[in-house]
Amino acid sequence: MAGFVCLYNDRFSDKKTVAHMDYSIYYHTMPDGTIKQVNPFTGTEVWSVSGRGRKPLDYDQEHRPKKLHRHEPEDYCSFCPTRFRDIPPEKTRLVRDGDSYKLVDGLTSSQYENEDYLFRRVPNLFEIVSLNYWRKNYDYKLSEKQLNLKDQFMQDPASIDHIVALLQYKMRLQGIPEEEITRMDTNTFISDADAFFGGGHEMIIARRHYKENAETEDDLCASGDLSVDEHEQYFRLTIDAMVDITENNKYVRYISVFQNWMKPAGASFDHLHKQIVAIDEWGAAIERQISMVKEDKNIFNVFGPNFAALNNLVFAENDFAVACIGIGHRHPTIEIYSKSVHARPDEH
Ligand SMILES: [Zn+2]
Repeated sequence: MAGFVCLYNDRFSDKKTVAHMDYSIYYHTMPDGTIKQVNPFTGTEVWSVSGRGRKPLDYDQEHRPKKLHRHEPEDYCSFCPTRFRDIPPEKTRLVRDGDSYKLVDGLTSSQYENEDYLFRRVPNLFEIVSLNYWRKNYDYKLSEKQLNLKDQFMQDPASIDHIVALLQYKMRLQGIPEEEITRMDTNTFISDADAFFGGGHEMIIARRHYKENAETEDDLCASGDLSVDEHEQYFRLTIDAMVDITENNKYVRYISVFQNWMKPAGASFDHLHKQIVAIDEWGAAIERQISMVKEDKNIFNVFGPNFAALNNLVFAENDFAVACIGIGHRHPTIEIYSKSVHARPDEH
């Protein structure tokens, strides 16, 4: 495909969609300058009212970031490399191996400090969809592979201490009385730890909290601070986790991957991480998009890059993908459409 002036058409499509599509329904400038935009895939309508972008905002006031008191190794939050036992046992870690990378699985709690890493894959202690959800609604059982990993982990007494302290901490946060927590025996905690080996809510956590040369508390390590190579590994590990979750739980119908970074986005920690959440349904937005694809197999080209090209909303393009300014989103959004014939992340 040469350049974004060329419109993308699915060769299987039987419709001449581009010619008859009335894009102005979705992106329309009123005589007073108000832009009304509707996201074609979700139906969300957003208005950009002329001049409102210049109104004074609280956060326009001069921001003076605090000087950072550097700690090496970092220990600023529970995702930092000195606080491994603040969060559940890791499933795997990605380690640099000369010029390439390797995955290291099955470390027990007393081995975490032995090997440096770039990213860790760790279950979320506060799952959105819990292991009990899958158990009670689907009679889901941990796979043999997961049970073996759990057994191997529990061979180390430090692992058992880790699990007990972590689950006690979670119970305290849930307001469970202290007497009840201290009465619980170790075997109950070990049994409750199944969630860390067979759950469907995980995180991919980057190593650094702040950039290498950070001077202020604003100098957090962002995904843009990773090298191209590291970024690729960050995605590979995320995709590996998605594949592993679906292979171990046949009731998963959809996996949501997101990177809420920093407090305004709802993240508990400013430390760079992705969340991976398996769910058992597609939800209204996906259901709607499925029926749109049934109507017209070319619909993602029509309302994606073609729509953007005709409205001068293409932001960047290379041989593999097109980045467009997304419309009908609550916050400024860039949408990236792959040019690959493969649809699933693990097929790329
Ligand atoms: Zn941190």
